[in-house]
Amino acid sequence: MKLFTASLSTETNTFSPIPTGLKSFAITRKGDYSTFPPFADSVVAFWRKLADERGWQTVESLIAAAEPAGKTLKVVYERYRDEIIADLTAALPVDLVLLDLHGAMVADGYDDCEGDLIAAVREVVGGDVPIGVELDLHCHITDLMIEQATIIITYKEYPHTDIFDRAVELFNLTADTAAGKLKPAMALFDTGMIGLYYPTQEPVKSYVDRIKQLEREPGVLSISLGHGFPWGDVPGLGTKVLVVTDGDPAQAAALAEQLGREFYAMRARVMPSFHTIDSGLDAALAVEGSPVVLADVSDNPGGGAPGDSTYILKRLLERGITGAAVGCIYDPIAVTLAFEAGIGATLDLRIGGKMGLMSGDPLDLTVTVTGLQAQAVQRFGNDDAQMSFPMGDCAAVHTAGVDIVLYSQRGQTFSPEVFSNVGIDPLQRRLLVVKSTQHFYARFSRIASQVIYVSAPGATAPDFRSIPYQIADKNRYPMVEDPLGT
Ligand SMILES: [Zn+2]
Repeated sequence: MKLFTASLSTETNTFSPIPTGLKSFAITRKGDYSTFPPFADSVVAFWRKLADERGWQTVESLIAAAEPAGKTLKVVYERYRDEIIADLTAALPVDLVLLDLHGAMVADGYDDCEGDLIAAVREVVGGDVPIGVELDLHCHITDLMIEQATIIITYKEYPHTDIFDRAVELFNLTADTAAGKLKPAMALFDTGMIGLYYPTQEPVKSYVDRIKQLEREPGVLSISLGHGFPWGDVPGLGTKVLVVTDGDPAQAAALAEQLGREFYAMRARVMPSFHTIDSGLDAALAVEGSPVVLADVSDNPGGGAPGDSTYILKRLLERGITGAAVGCIYDPIAVTLAFEAGIGATLDLRIGGKMGLMSGDPLDLTVTVTGLQAQAVQRFGNDDAQMSFPMGDCAAVHTAGVDIVLYSQRGQTFSPEVFSNVGIDPLQRRLLVVKSTQHFYARFSRIASQVIYVSAPGATAPDFRSIPYQIADKNRYPMVEDPLGT
């Protein structure tokens, strides 16, 4: 068997002020992980191991990943797509293709990059070669993707701690298809909703558990709940249920609709509730134990937000709250100045609020530099299946009882390492403020006495009624109460 693999991924926040260009992507080509060592932990590298165990030949093409931000430049998307297609053409004949994609990548002129890429791959390999695709659950699953791929599986968990579990499933199902043992049939049901859902909380937790149970039913190969990505203004926007059965399109369609309508019936309860800044701080101060973790969900770089908003930090300082640490604020200029000043130096520093209107005002503070770490890294995922994420240079500065971690390579906060890297013991702080919508939960929930979600102003504020869509269908919950007319 000859397996062809590639990965092209970014999550596009079409409202983000940050362009996604050529330099935004970390790159590995043809399995050479020396060019970007963190990709040795990638799904593509994992698939190669599984193929090696079967004695298969693997042809790896491109792995390209960019931190979520605004639209990808047209020439950049086309360049990477064409590179993958050229590698695939050179590798022919292949027996199966596995693609590790995101599902919410948008480029200028391409509302559905993944659909376009899968269609291009299909054109090269023809109708008989199975194409398996793994997507993030924050994806816009489109009809084009369903038509062109053989099997699509999305993550089930958020935080995405099941990336490798899903990668194994996809590998096995696609392999069995290539061997002629399965004939996957996919069906998609659009729930008419947009939203943000936490499978760590009820009722979504039980719903996901039920999906896993149903996957054991005869003929059912896989069930995915595509949450959608609400900050992508594209025609394919929406929360959708995808069912894959073995050779039975009617069974797939019926189960997708049944599960989609079940989720829809819970629409008023599946969205988490969020604190305002002050109610979140009040709630945090009322907790006995520490540290309390307060998530700034509205400025999540992992959803394309700048990561330099100052709203919560400003209120911490105005209210005189001490024993708090804020991680992290994206500010390469402040990092450069802190490194130049050195540990122990006290200086006036302008912090955050630089990237756009949604970042709030910069804060002019007199700070002491308490920690520096060049080329810091944080980890994400389970201990046995973790991925490394570079943070660039990091600096810890202290002012008025508040520690602030500044960093130079934008990305969301995954791990308490963002504090300990620069000498801040997260267990010794009363309050930890993190810029993340939910991925922080995997590692911070292990040390948190309580987790509090705060909706401040920001580029990923979970205020879905007021997102100014121009392209997406606005006949969706919660913009309208009952879009399916039940
Ligand atoms: Zn995601």
